[in-house]
Amino acid sequence: MLIMMDLNSPRADIEAVKKRVVSFGCTAHEIPGAIKLAIGITGPMEAINKDEFLLMKSVEDVVRVTKKFKLVSREMKNDNTIIDFGGAKIGGNELLIIAGPCAVESREQIFEIAGILKEMGIKFLRAGAYKPRSSPYSFQGLKEKGLEYLADVKKELGLKIVTEALNSSTLNQVAEVTDIIQIGARNMQNFSLLEEAGKLNKPVLLKRGLSATVEELLLSAEYIASQKNYNIILCERGIRTFETATRNTLDLNAVPVIKKNSHLPVIVDPSHGVGINDKVPPMALASVAAGADGLIIEVHQNPKEALSDGYQSLDPKTFKNLLTKIKELAPIVDKELNLK
Ligand code: PEP
Ligand code: MN
Repeated sequence: MLIMMDLNSPRADIEAVKKRVVSFGCTAHEIPGAIKLAIGITGPMEAINKDEFLLMKSVEDVVRVTKKFKLVSREMKNDNTIIDFGGAKIGGNELLIIAGPCAVESREQIFEIAGILKEMGIKFLRAGAYKPRSSPYSFQGLKEKGLEYLADVKKELGLKIVTEALNSSTLNQVAEVTDIIQIGARNMQNFSLLEEAGKLNKPVLLKRGLSATVEELLLSAEYIASQKNYNIILCERGIRTFETATRNTLDLNAVPVIKKNSHLPVIVDPSHGVGINDKVPPMALASVAAGADGLIIEVHQNPKEALSDGYQSLDPKTFKNLLTKIKELAPIVDKELNLK
């Protein structure tokens, strides 16, 4: 349920509404929009009396949210959520490009690729310190050492970091270094991890599960929002289908479907979505054309030598070429790519 109030309502009126919500054993979420202020209610709704709220000061309307996901829905908030990182934003007109290797492999490797990407105007570096691998015998990431190198890159080169939190026991450690906490496809329905990330004051990049529907992705985002962390970026990264020509099937339908149903920003990961490097540029462009707010792309200085996902990683030259095309395409879909 949603209580609509005037954006300029006196603080005392807003607090009174929130207090009444809490008295029913529910949680009140304050969601300011461009013209209205919404108080979203989550929790056991049975006892809530709609009419009682309608009689309270500054309350204009009480609306039932029909979707299963509430806080992340467009019904709850009509305006796009824009996350401001200071120097870069996502969810508005700007395209956010996150690039880097699948994993941190060594201090030299991460500094070299970070330097190359910074030179191209990239502001967000991706690289896993903890890697979820299908085989327990594959490279699992440098773990704490990897985080340490990412912290050094951040300090010395001023790049923002995107890295994955694999579990609750390393979440806080990851959150200390990263600017965006990545929750991977395999953890999309790890509800306790989602709730814990929801308690942190740090944006979360939530990747769609390998076999998850868009609704399940949005319900997982709801777990994070339910803990009052509303800075969530959704990521389409390909799903399992009967098709074997590519690693996954990039479901670009998800982009306009999510944009219609949720106010959260959506990015696309064509690297995992396709799994083969020469198909990454066309699908990256298609993602922008479909209305994505950004891209996350694997780029390695020497893909053939990469310890993970080299086959789908772009070399710097190909990536730079792609950036030029993205910049040209962006205005057609009312976006801009700022590489300064
Ligand atoms: C990754 O980004 O390297 C990764 C493991 O992604 P996903 O969780 O989408 O498989
Ligand atoms: Mn990868």
